[in-house]
Amino acid sequence: GLKIENITKRFGETDVLKGVSLDIADGEFLSLVGPSGCGKSTLLRIIAGLEEQSSGEIYIGGAPVAGRRAADRNLSMVFQSYALYPHLSVAENIAVPLKMRRLSPLQRLPVLGRFMPGMRHQAAEIGTEITHAAKMLEIAHLLDRKPGQLSGGQRQRVALGRALVRDPTAFLLDEPLSNLDAKLRVQTRAEIAQLHRRLEATFIYVTHDQVEAMTMSDRIAVMMGGRILQCAAPDVVYDDPDTIEVAEFIGSPK
Ligand code: ATP
Ligand code: MG
Repeated sequence: GLKIENITKRFGETDVLKGVSLDIADGEFLSLVGPSGCGKSTLLRIIAGLEEQSSGEIYIGGAPVAGRRAADRNLSMVFQSYALYPHLSVAENIAVPLKMRRLSPLQRLPVLGRFMPGMRHQAAEIGTEITHAAKMLEIAHLLDRKPGQLSGGQRQRVALGRALVRDPTAFLLDEPLSNLDAKLRVQTRAEIAQLHRRLEATFIYVTHDQVEAMTMSDRIAVMMGGRILQCAAPDVVYDDPDTIEVAEFIGSPK
């Protein structure tokens, strides 16, 4: 499981996160919703280790992650802007985390890495994993292209592919579909749901789309002003909102 305990975050004079706690079970699909600026991305970045909390702790599988670098947390984050490397092919982009994972901290140093032995015979294994992910996401025919030669939806899948090959404990998806047109959104949404079923991994999914949150999630966490106001099954949040703020945000009938 993934346990988030009383996380706070202060940027300058502003308390952006005011004590966020969440207990997410293995394999759970949790959507995180809330108005713009309420702290969703900040929370995800802290879980991923890309940002440091001001206080509080995160536990993965019962162990505190304090001080563990992003790469060592075994989480995959997918951003709204896919952050692909433009000069690398699709296959090379997907391989990035695989290559990182197989290197010792010493080997990760760019200069040393080039001279370290043992990288050659990993190539075949990496190739197999790329092929597997690419087939699952239906981008096997695009492996030699550069990101600039892909559509938004295809880029999206490459970003998902790169997240996938890490075989992470949890996926952290920050509005991954917001750049897609309506048709691709529906299609990619279905693919993510299918991915979740197949992988049985934990997903934290930030979205502005209520339909997405209602249909995909085991639970929805409603966040406002740096706090989680309610975290419950979609129908509970909708039918039985804890506060007026939640009801108004979700659009529950009064
Ligand atoms: P959106 O739905 O628009 O993506 P969000 O819920 O993801 O919003 P965050 O990006 O987490 O919101 O930002 C929460 C608050 O923290 C905002 O008021 C934002 O301006 C502020 N903030 C985020 N990053 C920084 C930073 N590096 N320095 C100062 N303030 C920041
Ligand atoms: Mg955000």
